[in-house]
Amino acid sequence: MTAGAPRVGVLALQGDVREHVRMLAGLGATTALVRRPADLADLEGLVLPGGESSVIDKLARAFGMQRPVRDVIASGLPVYGTCAGLILLADRLDGAITGQETFGGLDVTVRRNAFGGQSESFEAELWVPELAAGSESAPVRAAFIRAPLVTELGGNVRALAALPDGGVVAVEQGNLLGTAFHPEVTGEWRFHERFLARVREVAASSR
Ligand code: GLN
Repeated sequence: MTAGAPRVGVLALQGDVREHVRMLAGLGATTALVRRPADLADLEGLVLPGGESSVIDKLARAFGMQRPVRDVIASGLPVYGTCAGLILLADRLDGAITGQETFGGLDVTVRRNAFGGQSESFEAELWVPELAAGSESAPVRAAFIRAPLVTELGGNVRALAALPDGGVVAVEQGNLLGTAFHPEVTGEWRFHERFLARVREVAASSR
């Protein structure tokens, strides 16, 4: 494995896989599509894309992926989930369909479709202090598409971004990062960059 080119998988069961691959590759990562348990081997990070969390959950269980993904999360692999991916990382769900499960790991409650349906999709500019260090201080242009909201945060979870009304839409807990919006859709690269920095850090410390 080359230092500096972290190997990052994108769970490719359903959702906006290509957008994440493009973003990660543009930031210098080597990417791999993850569909089967064997695809998780040798990864230094994993992205759970946006899409439809109930479908991704169903497919993950059908393909025997739920346990292996839970295992890599528990082992401390850096994981970044956007929208449906954030839902899949949540320990608790509000508005799940009957029988819907998550991988879990993030000690949060997430409310699905918190802003209504597709027609209630919107873009917002968010001020994210954590991303403002250094020269980059532009607000985040965030696309919310049938987006969830983080309604409860456990003690070890940090809110990274909130809407003007205080609703939390980006969180971090250890090596887990989740955003209710889709930076990969608006070309906002700083969350992926933050995630990759963590990936590199964890990979370097285990070498
Ligand atoms: N509402 C979707 C779900 O519950 C998430 C939407 C998205 O990822 N853009 O999975």
